[in-house]
Amino acid sequence: MICPICNHTRIASLREVNEYWHCLNCGVAWRKKLQKTTYKEDYYAPASSAASIMFRPLLNFFYFLRSRYSERKQHGLWIDVGAGDGNFVSGVDAKRKIGVEGSLAAREIMKKKGIRVLGDASFLQKRGLAADVISFWHVLEHLVDPEKFLLASFRNLKKSGELIVAVPNIDSFEFGFFERDWFHLEPKLHLWHFSPKSIKILLRKCGFRIKRIDYFSIEHHPTGLLQSFINKGSSQKNSLHKLVKSIRQTGAVAVKASDVLVNLFWLTLGLPIIFIVWIINSLTERSGAFVIVAVKR
Ligand SMILES: [Zn+2]
Repeated sequence: MICPICNHTRIASLREVNEYWHCLNCGVAWRKKLQKTTYKEDYYAPASSAASIMFRPLLNFFYFLRSRYSERKQHGLWIDVGAGDGNFVSGVDAKRKIGVEGSLAAREIMKKKGIRVLGDASFLQKRGLAADVISFWHVLEHLVDPEKFLLASFRNLKKSGELIVAVPNIDSFEFGFFERDWFHLEPKLHLWHFSPKSIKILLRKCGFRIKRIDYFSIEHHPTGLLQSFINKGSSQKNSLHKLVKSIRQTGAVAVKASDVLVNLFWLTLGLPIIFIVWIINSLTERSGAFVIVAVKR
């Protein structure tokens, strides 16, 4: 067997997580069963109005940070791949916006917001859309063939356009320490887990040059760290995520009382620990998630 990213032959199972193969050269991990994940149709169920108003400022802050990764002053076209319900791309400062999305239900929601939509297959066939920015926010790891999507991005970016890719980092302190409790592991949903080294190789293969990597990754790194610590102390996986989601969608708390206490600790007294680990992981480039900005070579 050879590594699909770097062609190396030193392949092993990924430590305790037997669902994945792991390249010992570039660090990429991929699911032994590499097949499309099917999402429940209610995945994009509309959030309850009171709760969505509550979380809106935080989401808007994250979306603002996302748009700051682009250094271009003006955007003609911004394409967001894996756009979901289009909440992010609808708010970007661009004349034209396209949301690429595999889920039909999500595409319908985007259409209602007036966003131009493309299914995965039609995006892969496109060329010459001349986008200023193409972004992938924690999407690449869900795709059966991420290379195809990056090649399509290359064809559809302007000469000076920017590619922004945010992914979890398998070569992180978090995976090393938390293993199965690592928030971003998601072995059912994540078909791939990249390391900075492997994604650099993949992007170069697809014609890109790396401009910068942000290991601080405010949206996904400290939040993933927080949830990983909570996972370690909780009776069920991702209880904070479930807590937030249940409040967002139904307005009710659907998590055990002991788990609510664990959540409360990490959200209050535990926060300085999260903060310190976040800074150390970022400075040592071992963060649980990172954002890479690339341009055409
Ligand atoms: Zn490799």
